[in-house]
Amino acid sequence: MTKTYYLTTPIYYVNGKPHIGHAYTNILCDTLARYHRMLGEPVCFLTGTDEHGTKVAKAALAAGKTPQAYVDALVPHFKELWRVLGVTYDFFIRTTDERHKQYVRSVLTDLEAKKEIYKASYQGWYCTPCESFWTELQLKDGKCPDCHRGVDQIEEENYFFKLAHHQAWLLDYIEKHEDFIRPAHRRNEVLGFLRHETLEDLCITRPQSRLRWGIEYPNSKDHVVYVWFDALLNYTSAPHFAIEGKKETDFWPADVQLLGKDIVRQHAIYWPIMLKAMGLPMPRTLLVHGWWKIGETKMSKSLGNVVNPTEIAAKYGVDALRYFLLNEVTLGMDGTYSEDLLMERYSSDLANGLGNLWHRTASMIEKYFDGILPQVEFPQLKQSLMGPSMGLLDLVWGNMEQYDPRGALAEVWQVIQRANQFVEENKPWVLAKDPAPKTDLESVIVTLAETVFRVAVILMIFMPDTAKKILQRLNQPTIGKLIPNSGQFSEIHLVPGTRIEKGEPLFPRLDD
Ligand SMILES: [Zn+2]
Repeated sequence: MTKTYYLTTPIYYVNGKPHIGHAYTNILCDTLARYHRMLGEPVCFLTGTDEHGTKVAKAALAAGKTPQAYVDALVPHFKELWRVLGVTYDFFIRTTDERHKQYVRSVLTDLEAKKEIYKASYQGWYCTPCESFWTELQLKDGKCPDCHRGVDQIEEENYFFKLAHHQAWLLDYIEKHEDFIRPAHRRNEVLGFLRHETLEDLCITRPQSRLRWGIEYPNSKDHVVYVWFDALLNYTSAPHFAIEGKKETDFWPADVQLLGKDIVRQHAIYWPIMLKAMGLPMPRTLLVHGWWKIGETKMSKSLGNVVNPTEIAAKYGVDALRYFLLNEVTLGMDGTYSEDLLMERYSSDLANGLGNLWHRTASMIEKYFDGILPQVEFPQLKQSLMGPSMGLLDLVWGNMEQYDPRGALAEVWQVIQRANQFVEENKPWVLAKDPAPKTDLESVIVTLAETVFRVAVILMIFMPDTAKKILQRLNQPTIGKLIPNSGQFSEIHLVPGTRIEKGEPLFPRLDD
């Protein structure tokens, strides 16, 4: 059986509502998932929520709710956002799911049996208001580095996961697998860290006297599992119980695991070592994306500059937001978000680019051919535009193999731009006045229609709503058809005699 192409997003911490950073990660993952589905591969796209830990317990307390009631109320906001943004996940995991808790406990029992976990006394400096442990080195002038208040020395029994004795193996593995951490600058950071620092074993429990909101440690009434250890295991626990009749090995190892640059340490160091200790293979690629800044500052709840993706989608359309986020930055780099910038791209690329191309093509079919696509034999189509539109699939797929949706969209928009130029060059309105047979006009118009058709098929992975609209207006019964290779792409054609509907503007002008 073919292995399922398995992609994951981080699971999101539910101490607030989702913002544009969450939207970006899931739109990226959705685009990759749609791409692999179009190639005809079985796909499993996992997302979910990380629901345990101190921050959730504190937020719940502040809201006057139990932690469970608090997370139950927030999870629907995430699911609703994914629905609005057209994010086609296959499974949504919640770490409070009883099946996940059981899985975590079985992993811990197994790791203890393998002597990868041991119990020891833990010493450190504790900030009571922050509920945070700090090492001597982390303190700032002997005070909590977060809140600058005084700290107390604490000693307690905890469980530790052995990281140190896996360090040489991990360094060697990352050196030998160039695609394991992408992009390269993130890989180099991790390599640098592993070459120059010594890993310390990871404390993976919290005493219940300090924190109760977590998975109970097996055979211990005194400890709960550290939230990161619990959360990382979602990637293997979900396939364990997600789909009946499937085994973990039908999914794992993951093909790509998306994550933001702030959680590289957990994913590129703790997670591979956990998998190694569990006896599971490594994911093929950890794909690290950057942050969105708002103007010049980082977006954060405390700064009050959080952008609500639902509002943006309602105002400009979901696909305008998807296009902006996918196109504005190269995956891996930081981006700058501003509504002005989004409006600029909307006008230039969407309204005047793709929207205009559709509108003029459909208008001319309406005006010159009563809305019916004329018959033109394939060799009579204009090669100056058919060439680029036929070659588009290979260019887009090539970029997608390199996890570069921005590069892929640039290729699509080159063809759109080329097609709009083609209209100016061929002046169909002049050809239409020619009393001779309309063969040249027919050829120009069908060339345009075939090009828009191909653009729409490819846009199904990036801008599914817009693609669907165009394909419906082109009266294409083959919507959703798989286009795995360029051979098949050159075989798809619009049927002569098809009725074309112009419809409302795809991207209404913003001043309207
Ligand atoms: Zn503090």
